Amino acid sequence: MAQPKTQAEQDRMKRCTWAMIDEDQTNIHRLSDTIWSFAELPMQEIRSSKLLADTLENEGFEVVRGVSGMPTAFVATTSHGTGKPSIGILAEYDALPSLSQTAGCLTHTPLVPGGPGHGCTHNAMGATSAFTALTLKRVLENEHLDGTIRLFGCPGEEALISRPYMVRDGLFDGLDAVLDNHGADEFRPVAGISYSGMFSFVVTFHGRTAHAAGDPWHGISALHAVELMNHAVNVLREHLHYTARVHCVIPEGGRSPNIVPDWATVWYYVRDSDERLADDLRRVLLCAEGAAVATGCTHDVRIYTGIHQNYGNRALARLMHENVSRVGMPIWSDEDVRFAKTFQKTNGLKPLGMRAKHGSVLSRSAKEFTGSGSSDVGEVTLVAPTATLLFPVLPRDVRGHHWQTVSLSATPIAHKAITAAAKALVGTGIDLLCDPARLQPIRGEFARLQRRMPYKSYLENDAMPPTDLNREAMEAVRSIMEPHYVTSEAKSSGIGNYGFDSPADS
Ligand SMILES: [Zn+2]
Repeated sequence: MAQPKTQAEQDRMKRCTWAMIDEDQTNIHRLSDTIWSFAELPMQEIRSSKLLADTLENEGFEVVRGVSGMPTAFVATTSHGTGKPSIGILAEYDALPSLSQTAGCLTHTPLVPGGPGHGCTHNAMGATSAFTALTLKRVLENEHLDGTIRLFGCPGEEALISRPYMVRDGLFDGLDAVLDNHGADEFRPVAGISYSGMFSFVVTFHGRTAHAAGDPWHGISALHAVELMNHAVNVLREHLHYTARVHCVIPEGGRSPNIVPDWATVWYYVRDSDERLADDLRRVLLCAEGAAVATGCTHDVRIYTGIHQNYGNRALARLMHENVSRVGMPIWSDEDVRFAKTFQKTNGLKPLGMRAKHGSVLSRSAKEFTGSGSSDVGEVTLVAPTATLLFPVLPRDVRGHHWQTVSLSATPIAHKAITAAAKALVGTGIDLLCDPARLQPIRGEFARLQRRMPYKSYLENDAMPPTDLNREAMEAVRSIMEPHYVTSEAKSSGIGNYGFDSPADS
C-alpha cells in the first residue's frame, strides 16, 4: 500500500507529470485532429471509437468494446495494487450533422458540403480524456500507487443516448470519482444542478395510401397526423412551465404530393427539470394520441433515450479548481490572439480574443434553473460523484453547434487547451490517488445527493439503444470525407494553422 503521499511528494509528482504531458502533447493533438477529421455522427463513431480504444489498448489498458449493446461504446481499464481508489474518466467523440467546415478558416467554408462536423469540440474532449487516462496510468506505474483508472467511451452524446444504457448496466458502479470535461471558451469546473432532463422519442403514424387526386377519400394521411400533433404541441407550449424546451423535426413526411402518405414520423426532444419532465412527456404524448384519433391513423412511440439533469459534485469541482489554478490558462501567442480577434470580427462578434484568466467553480443551484440544453453526463452524476471541467478550446462567445466551433476545434488554440485540461485533470487524479482524505467530502456530498435523489432510470426495462441512428446519413458521406482524413503527421501539421491574411488593424 503506497498511499498516502505527503504534500511535497504530490507536488513533485505533479511537476514531473506535467513535464511528461508537455513532452507527449503532439501525439494527442494529432489524435484530436484525426477524430475531428472523421467527424462521425452519433452512434456511427466507428473510426473514432476504434482509434481511442486502440490507443488505450496499445498502452496496456484492458478494453471491452461494444458495451451495453452499442458497437461504438467501450470501457478501458487499468488497475494496480488494491485497485482503490477507482477513478472514472468520461470520453465523447461524436459530431453534428451539416456542420462540415475547413479547420482554422475565418468564413463558412465546408470541407464536404452537407457533411458532419465537430461543432461541440467533442474531438478535443475525447483526446483530452484519453491523454488523462494514459498519463494517470503512467503515474500509477512510476509511483507504485494503488488505484484503478477507467475510461468510458460514450457514443451518441449529441443525441444523449449512451449513458442511461451504460448506467442501467451498472458500468459506473463502485467508482470513487468521475472526471468529465467539455470544451468551452473558459477554463473552470462546473458543479451543482445544470442542464435539462430530456426525453428523445420518435412517433410514427400509420395511415392508408391513395391517389391524392384520384380517390383521396380512400386515403388516411399520416403526414396530417404529424401536422396535427405539432399544432397541438404548439398550443400546449403556452401552458408549459418556462423551464420546458420542446422541439422536433420531421424525418419522414411522404415522398410525393400525389400519393397520400401512409406513414410519417416526427422526432421530438422534450426537456425540463427532473421535477416536471415526466409530466411534460405525458402531455406531449397525449397530443400524439389526439392527432391519431382525429385523423384515423394508428401510431407508435419509440423512446430513444431518457436522461436526468446534471448534479455535479461541488467538492470534486473544488479539487479540480485547485489544479486549474496551479496549471493556469494556456499561454496564448500573439498569433493565437490575433487570429481569435480576426475570427470574432469577421463573424460579427465582439473582438474580445481569448480569455486571459481561468474562472472559479461555476456552481449552480436548482433555483437558478431557467431551462437549457442537456447532457447525458447527468445520469453518471447520480450514480458516482462527478464533476465537469470546462476548458478553453474556443475564443470568447463563439457559437456552439455551429460551423464556427468546427473551424476552431482543430487549431493551435484547441491544442493548447487540450494540454492544459489534461494537466488539470491529471493533477486532480493525483490528489485523489495520493490522499484518501480528499475523497471524504466528495463521498459525503454524494451520499446526501443519493438520499435526496435515489437513481431511477427513465428507461423502460426493455429499452434498447438506437444503434441504427444516423447510419444511412453517415454511410452517404464517408467516402467523400475520406480524402480529408488526418491520418499522417504531415496532414496533421497542416490542419487548422492560421493561414489568414492578418489585417493590420487586428
Ligand atoms: Zn457537447
